[in-house]
Amino acid sequence: MKTELVIDLEAEKQEILKRYRALLRASKSTLQKGDKKEIRKAFDMALESHKDMRRKSGEPYIYHPIAVAQIAAEEIGLGTTSIVCALLHDVVEDTDITLEDIEREFGKKTAKIIDGLTKISGVFDTNSSLQAENFRKMLLTLADDVRVILIKLADRLHNMRTMDFMPRHKQLKIASETIYLYAPLAHRLGLYAIKSELEDLSMKYLDPDTYKFIAKKLNEKKAERALFIKKFVEPIDEIVHEQGLVADVYGRPKSIHSIWNKMKKKNIPFEEVYDLFAIRIILDSAPENEKADCWKAYSIVTDLYRPNPDRLRDWVSSPKGNGYESLHTTVMGPRGQWVEVQIRTQRMNEIAEKGFAAHWKYKESSNDNGLDQWIQKVREMLSNPEANALDFLDDFKMNLFSDEIFIFTPKGALIQLPLGATALDFAFEIHTDVGATCIGAKVNHKLVPISYKLQNGDQVEIITSSKQTPKEDWLNTVVTAKAKSKIKSSLKEEKRKIAENGKEILERKMKSLKITYNTDNIQKLSYFFKLPSTQELFVNVALGKIELKDIKEYLSSEKEVESRAPERPENLTVDMVKNKIKGSENDILLIGEDQQKIDYTLAACCNPIPGDDVFGFVTVSEGIKIHRTNCPNAAQLMSNYGYRVVKAKWNKQQELTFLTGLRIVGIDDVGLINNITRVISTDFKVNMRSITVDTNEGIFDGSIMIFVNDTEHLENLIKNLLKVRGVTGVTRFDA
Ligand code: MN
Repeated sequence: MKTELVIDLEAEKQEILKRYRALLRASKSTLQKGDKKEIRKAFDMALESHKDMRRKSGEPYIYHPIAVAQIAAEEIGLGTTSIVCALLHDVVEDTDITLEDIEREFGKKTAKIIDGLTKISGVFDTNSSLQAENFRKMLLTLADDVRVILIKLADRLHNMRTMDFMPRHKQLKIASETIYLYAPLAHRLGLYAIKSELEDLSMKYLDPDTYKFIAKKLNEKKAERALFIKKFVEPIDEIVHEQGLVADVYGRPKSIHSIWNKMKKKNIPFEEVYDLFAIRIILDSAPENEKADCWKAYSIVTDLYRPNPDRLRDWVSSPKGNGYESLHTTVMGPRGQWVEVQIRTQRMNEIAEKGFAAHWKYKESSNDNGLDQWIQKVREMLSNPEANALDFLDDFKMNLFSDEIFIFTPKGALIQLPLGATALDFAFEIHTDVGATCIGAKVNHKLVPISYKLQNGDQVEIITSSKQTPKEDWLNTVVTAKAKSKIKSSLKEEKRKIAENGKEILERKMKSLKITYNTDNIQKLSYFFKLPSTQELFVNVALGKIELKDIKEYLSSEKEVESRAPERPENLTVDMVKNKIKGSENDILLIGEDQQKIDYTLAACCNPIPGDDVFGFVTVSEGIKIHRTNCPNAAQLMSNYGYRVVKAKWNKQQELTFLTGLRIVGIDDVGLINNITRVISTDFKVNMRSITVDTNEGIFDGSIMIFVNDTEHLENLIKNLLKVRGVTGVTRFDA
């Protein structure tokens, strides 16, 4: 359908001005003398330079920088310099304006931030394999001026909010990067509201069915929940005020993404997720009364409702590394339902919502500098030039999301480590040499091995020995990115020495077998022994894992090796794969922009079936693999190897069947299994591959592997299984 677009330019101009004035109102609290003029100047420059550009939606482009500036001001709490930078964030990249122009008009600082923003704007947009390396560069700017990252997050948030007009494959790519990197980054910077929104928006595009399902379920019980919250809050509110505290008490829904995570983690249906919302008590306290008031409120809540002793979290006494301060408890509600209650002051709440910027504002009055420590850690990690960019990214990402524990040194100094950290992590945190020579530790005066998992509040003393050196399996013992990268570089050095030795041995061995020692033959040997690199070959020789007789074996099969020389992964393109593989007769999947029929295999990690939302991934040796867009590996694949992702769509009409798994739970009853298998085999004529059943005290829990045609077929089957008496839940599983 074609629609003629008639643009009312006058109305548009009015709308632009309206949005600009809204931005000014949002930034009012931080405005100082002369600021308004600066913002106007930036707005005029952006307006003029973007004047002929439009967004995919057809709207004037200027809406975007205004919106980004508004997010920066309102949702992150940034000041004038950032607002100016946000307004101008796309001009150097997309228009004739140069960095010199910016510096002349707005000064050095603004030019530097915009330079940072321009540099990282290409981070994920290019078709290169260097995304990880680019991300590392982006983090370097974080160590420089964190405002670059904060404005980038505002930019990403607005793009995610307005992604409906993008083609599907772009939506998938952008949503994947967001869930893989930007949401963890927002989390680490303490921007909880933005983090949750980024997660929900990503899920909306990556897993639309589940997203809609949970949204619908939430909506159905909205009124009922509101009533429950009102009844729960009323007595708290009353007593809090009686005792002279000034407080705002309310219920707040949890995000769709966090509910889905809980369902997956605990393997429970929506109905069994108890914390669909949390209660917040936000206190208006004088700085000196903050802590006492929080505990007073805690005492009021736990007098009214019985607390779960395992669920008290005190981030008031020891704030999280990203600055988060709050008191959390879970109490039993009037209807026998656990309810989470979060208690904090207005100052703490502002830090919780706006993160870094708010933290900065209150810095003088706060004795915590966890965020500074974190940025210092980022600098340390980045300063290790040897780390492989992708490894670095993985380690780094893990550290972005983890919670902290607090550990004491023998002298009583406090060290923050991620949850799950071991004695060895602690050793590396103290000093690289202490880590490298660590043989054990004393935790609270008791001797423990290096792999001991530290608990919050432990006091740790490290025991070292000059004979100790880092070992390969230490990589599984540590969780901090710092320890990992130190161990890796030390192992690498060690390996280099061993390889050198092995190289000499191999040279001698080859000579005795009359094989010429050259690059070609060395590579053939590595391939023969299925080793990823010639260095690995040398190491294996040095360690005696490859002996003379093995090399002889290679000689006898050399001819065969030549006929199947390995494919070089770097040179593999989608086109090559397409040319290499002839479309088979049974293709029911259309792949690539031109929707060709080419060969593929279905990924075992998510077992896609027709009807699932899918994409193709070009693998090094196995052609194109088809994954579901909500596959647990999808975000990682799409954000790191975007250039290898190809579009894929099911071509409906086939009679083929696909293997998938169903988990059926219920109340055990006579004939239950019979009834289930009757529905599957007789009513639906579906073939079963396997069935395993556990019954425990009357609870039935079964896993059935079946062959179905497509998602519609599967959904109908699930619907009918749910009608079987005794069955309470049927869910699809992947592995
Ligand atoms: Mn932008």
